Amino acid sequence: MSENLYELLASRFPTDRSRPCFLLSDGRAISYGELEAGAAHVAGRLAAEGVQPGDRVALQAEKSAETIMAYLGVLKAGAVYLPLNSAYTQAEVDYFLGDAEPAVFVTDPPAWVAEARAHPPLATAVPRAADDLASLIYTSGTTGRSKGAMLSHGALAANALALHQAWGFTPDDVLLHALPIFHVHGLFVALHCALLSGCPMVWLPKFTDAEVLKGLERATVMMGVPTFYTRLLGNPEFTRERAVGVRVFICGSAPLLPSTFAEFEARTGQRILERYGMSEAVIITSNPLAGERLAGSVGYPLPGVELRIGGGADTGVIEIRGPSVFSGYWRMPDKTAEEFTADGFFITGDVGRRDPDGRVWISGRAKDLIISGGYNVYPKEVELVLDELPGVTESAVIGCPHPDFGEGVVAVVQGQGDEAAMIAEARRQLAAYKAPKRIVFVDELPRNAMGKVQKNLLRQRYERLFEA
Ligand code: AMP
Repeated sequence: MSENLYELLASRFPTDRSRPCFLLSDGRAISYGELEAGAAHVAGRLAAEGVQPGDRVALQAEKSAETIMAYLGVLKAGAVYLPLNSAYTQAEVDYFLGDAEPAVFVTDPPAWVAEARAHPPLATAVPRAADDLASLIYTSGTTGRSKGAMLSHGALAANALALHQAWGFTPDDVLLHALPIFHVHGLFVALHCALLSGCPMVWLPKFTDAEVLKGLERATVMMGVPTFYTRLLGNPEFTRERAVGVRVFICGSAPLLPSTFAEFEARTGQRILERYGMSEAVIITSNPLAGERLAGSVGYPLPGVELRIGGGADTGVIEIRGPSVFSGYWRMPDKTAEEFTADGFFITGDVGRRDPDGRVWISGRAKDLIISGGYNVYPKEVELVLDELPGVTESAVIGCPHPDFGEGVVAVVQGQGDEAAMIAEARRQLAAYKAPKRIVFVDELPRNAMGKVQKNLLRQRYERLFEA
């Protein structure tokens, strides 16, 4: 039997294909039938143009329903889908195109899909095996060259089925989709859950308060990054009544602050369901739908995922093995070998710990670990203390070159306060070597498109802070 992911998704489309898939902001809807036809024409076009199974098709464009027709058409044709962040510059795009060598590069999906309609639709999906490549996702690459994570049909299918089950999706759901679709969160996590349920999505090109507040009137599930939730909370129009029709708010791609979790619960009576994932494995752990969701914890490994803490201590680098883990980095066999253990676990680079019952807590990236005067400082531990102080919205703790200590602990704080008083308070609550030596106040912490604080930029910016 073919394991083409397209076949699995299409087998779950509603029998009545006139049912809506995309609910657009202008009031129009695009049906499952239209999605299916668009994908079939795209696949027909690719076949006519001689695109072979395994060839890459790259796409860089603004979010649209046609982009999803293109994505599904690429899968159906047996080719490999390579989405690129719409913010990438020409030089960045040149690197990805040079590395992935796609057969086709799409920049205007609506026009490209419209042209595809001139080609006869491809009736059946090109057969693929579970370990054949479905998609190539370049990691954000904050250090060194960006790497292409190879995700197979089997890996994406396994993760989609697990999430669909874990989060209790049904055909009666309506998913609010305001995420970008060049990243695993919007493209795989959110989209696949909706397609497997054959349910509609409130399809927003991006997050705006007004559109999301309106979308919540119809939605039953919302997926977002932490900044979506802080922005909603910043808007007084976001009330308990607005949230009442939503059965679950799901969050990930960056750590959700305990203060956001608490404020959200106070405002709506609902607990955000936080989960943890990455390009190399899609979703790894999730808080339970039915059981306890705890602030600051990313929950339990999904069924089939083996998760352990490397290094023998309580806290260490998370290692995982399971059906959704990627097949390696594109054309980087050495790098791939380095990041897997001898017994086949992927070394995630995230530092965390587990409770005796298996619940997982993440304390940051291994490369963000600070070594100050020979002592290890986990930034998260310091951030949790600072985030509770008056005037602090959010803090990011980094290590900066220091003449005596090697690295000195620096806190970059979004908010206001008195530097000396805050340092004194941190020293009261933490061992002296963990307390920041300097605190810098900023209006906004720099973030990437998924809301992750870019510590690499902060380290560059404050590189010379301790120079005499
Ligand atoms: P990306 O490959 O761009 O999706 O980035 C993956 C990284 O995001 C992970 O390795 C984690 O460092 C981080 N991440 C994702 N979800 C969470 C979460 N819920 N809590 C903390 N970090 C997260």
